[in-house]
Amino acid sequence: MVKIAVLKETASGETRVSASPETVKKYIGLGATVAVEAGAGLSASISDADYAAAGASVGTEGAALKDADIILSVQGPDPKSLKGMKSGAWLVAGLDPFGQRARVDEYAKSGVEALAMEFMPRITRAQSMDILSSQSNLSGYKAVIEAASVYGRAFPLMMTAAGTVSAAKAFIMGVGVAGLQAIATARRLGAQVSATDVRSATKEQIESLGAKAIFVDNVAGIEGEGAGGYATEMSDEYKAAQAELVSAHIAKQDIVITTALIPGRPAPRLVSDAQIATMKPGSVIFDLAVAQGGNVEGSKADEVVVKHGVKIIGYANTPAHLAADTSALFSRNLFNFLSAFWDKEAGRPVLPDDDEITAAIRLTKDGKVVNDRLLA
Ligand code: NAD
Repeated sequence: MVKIAVLKETASGETRVSASPETVKKYIGLGATVAVEAGAGLSASISDADYAAAGASVGTEGAALKDADIILSVQGPDPKSLKGMKSGAWLVAGLDPFGQRARVDEYAKSGVEALAMEFMPRITRAQSMDILSSQSNLSGYKAVIEAASVYGRAFPLMMTAAGTVSAAKAFIMGVGVAGLQAIATARRLGAQVSATDVRSATKEQIESLGAKAIFVDNVAGIEGEGAGGYATEMSDEYKAAQAELVSAHIAKQDIVITTALIPGRPAPRLVSDAQIATMKPGSVIFDLAVAQGGNVEGSKADEVVVKHGVKIIGYANTPAHLAADTSALFSRNLFNFLSAFWDKEAGRPVLPDDDEITAAIRLTKDGKVVNDRLLA
């Protein structure tokens, strides 16, 4: 019987967990046994008793890892802590392969087959396994809620007997998964919403959510969706045109949510200190990219930075601030992945070498780093 270990996260500020009682039951339904490290779910509002009721055994880290075939985690565990599992055991987690490159070498040495879930290809078949999408979606929501809570005014237009409160103007920069959810959330709260991106396909998406699309039109951006739905670094000419456009627009905004990311590179700088200086005092900027270097000049993770009377906020780990929901979705992403590759005869998941998903996510195998993106 295949044994799945669920580890308690050790990274500072990480509150999520990689399996829920629901997915534990489903793994058992497939014929696996599940061992959960005690306390793994507490910060995501899941008790040890909930896991036990779902059929898992609950015990020490050592007991969970002993003879494990598959190790589940949200972030990559310390390679030194990985002891007692079967040789060639899978490690399935968000492994931050570029940021933690040396750790990938350690995983190779320790003999685990490390599978980086953030490298999941953006193909229809893998949509339900995509941790970046599931976590970004809730992050986009949370960014707006946090910005609203720090903002010293209301979002909706309110007509009261004492006079009118005007609607907040919110500008969303970067319209991927997080940005789309930020637009929807800000609209629901009653703000007047505008948004921008470098990928032309997002224009229609912005408008279909009832927001105004603000686009550079004198320099070509990225046609359609971009490669795999991802943006690339833009030309200097484009950056200059974008800076000019943003300068004209941002001074009138009360709330700015930035979400722009480029895979494997630092986040693009979208808002300068000079632009912040043109905004009204009391305005709020939430920098969702702060942990990847930041879209906003001066933003600091987990701090409220006040510049020119504007509050700049952003979390090092936004999904960790809604751990119950993000954990439930993360857990389902892992289950959807493992169950899609489940081989009934083998009684465990099997990754075919020639599968597009295998090639994308497999970082290490047989003691070596094997991923093209890391070896390039
Ligand atoms: P992301 O997190 O990599 O980036 C966020 C957004 O920032 C993107 O829209 C990007 O174009 C934008 N951006 C980058 N540089 C910018 C700049 N200089 N100025 C303004 N904006 C900039 O993106 P994401 O949220 O992961 O998703 C990107 C796309 O991929 C979306 O269209 C999404 O629908 C698609 N997607 C597809 C699948 C799938 O088919 N399996 C899964 C997830 C996402």
